[in-house]
Amino acid sequence: MGKRKALMAGNWKMHTTVVDGCQLAVDVSRACTDFPDREVLLAPPYTILSEVSHILKDSPIIVGSQNVCWEEKGAFTGEISPVMLKDAGGSAAIVGHSERRQIFGETDELVNRRLKGGLSFGLMMILCIGETLEEREAGRAFAVLYEQIKKGLADVAAVDMAKVVIAYEPVWAIGTGKTASNEQAQETHAFIRGVLEQIYEKNIAEQTRILYGGSVKPTNVDELMAQSDIDGALVGGAALDAKSFGRIINFQ
Ligand code: PEP
Repeated sequence: MGKRKALMAGNWKMHTTVVDGCQLAVDVSRACTDFPDREVLLAPPYTILSEVSHILKDSPIIVGSQNVCWEEKGAFTGEISPVMLKDAGGSAAIVGHSERRQIFGETDELVNRRLKGGLSFGLMMILCIGETLEEREAGRAFAVLYEQIKKGLADVAAVDMAKVVIAYEPVWAIGTGKTASNEQAQETHAFIRGVLEQIYEKNIAEQTRILYGGSVKPTNVDELMAQSDIDGALVGGAALDAKSFGRIINFQ
């Protein structure tokens, strides 16, 4: 792990009822001691954001949403605004998840709008990027990531980068049980940091946290977190089990 404070984030996706989600939040908070060197974030579905925030109000765990709109309010059926998220107790949002891009057709331009909107309301924003298997096999992974970073961060001021976290999630590793090798992940994270340096400056590239996502589990978290440019994890499946996520949070 590098010199940045680790961020271990759980994305619950479209899982958990009110009862399940509240129980999971309680169980995760029990598994989570207040480490000085790491932060923990949970992104439950919108329907239980408020309950989960309430349960975690005295805990250091950050609550975030799985997406967010850029407007404060208005005719945006199906969306939630940064103000609504904050009102429900959230302080962070994920944008650009590959499921949003692939299933719901979200473009880099839309993701950028969401990102800037969230930043303008003071949210911590997790920008997800990642290549497909086809793109990796065609030797285009870095070109795809470069484009996603450039477009995703378009018009984001250097000063706002303190609130931005990048999550590198190779699409072929999400929910598939396949993980990028430690070397592949480290190489890609170093590339992403290089792009940040090119867009901004060395200091900002050094300070920005870059999370790895894609079948992170108790059995592979330690070695992934040992890579110098991996600053945390965005976890899907394993975040739905408090014991597994607890072990991930407690990486060695
Ligand atoms: C994710 O949803 O961001 C993710 C990485 O999922 P999983 O851990 O299940 O691969």
